[in-house]
Amino acid sequence: MHLENDTIINVAQLMKEDVGAHRKYTVDLDWFTLDEDLAAKDVHADVRLTRVTRGILAGGHVTGTAIVECVRCLEMYEQPFTADFDQEYGPTIDVRSGLLVAQPRPDEEIGTIDESHELDLAEPMRQVAILELPIKLICREDCPGVSDLAATDDEVGDRRLGVLSSLLAGDEDTTEG
Ligand SMILES: [Zn+2]
Repeated sequence: MHLENDTIINVAQLMKEDVGAHRKYTVDLDWFTLDEDLAAKDVHADVRLTRVTRGILAGGHVTGTAIVECVRCLEMYEQPFTADFDQEYGPTIDVRSGLLVAQPRPDEEIGTIDESHELDLAEPMRQVAILELPIKLICREDCPGVSDLAATDDEVGDRRLGVLSSLLAGDEDTTEG
């Protein structure tokens, strides 16, 4: 099954099946929010959902391109990532009886299958993608950094004017010569 720009899967049917039953999904997202100021594009995931005793285990592989800021020159650039994830999800409501299910302790890192029997792959995909990004985000190995760009606007303006006037001077030279 294929999800386009969506990370939510209804697992009602799978929850009625025996432990070990599984489904395969592919997910494609044009854009994906990784964090408050961090987005990725062209995100693709191959996911396998398996019925386990407690609920559903989602195992997957995710790739994409994060749009990040270079720590040296402060320009935005594209940082590809590829990561694996495994996330278990537990039900809120028993799919057969419709009764509430005892919830896991808060310290157990288990995802939630909501009252509509839907789980969301976004959180594990987001977490592993962020972890996979380099600690030092640098657009290229020989990035010169901000020193050149640190010049004040006036200085840059003067430099541009200088280039412009030498071009103009060159034009004058050719017309005169
Ligand atoms: Zn840079």
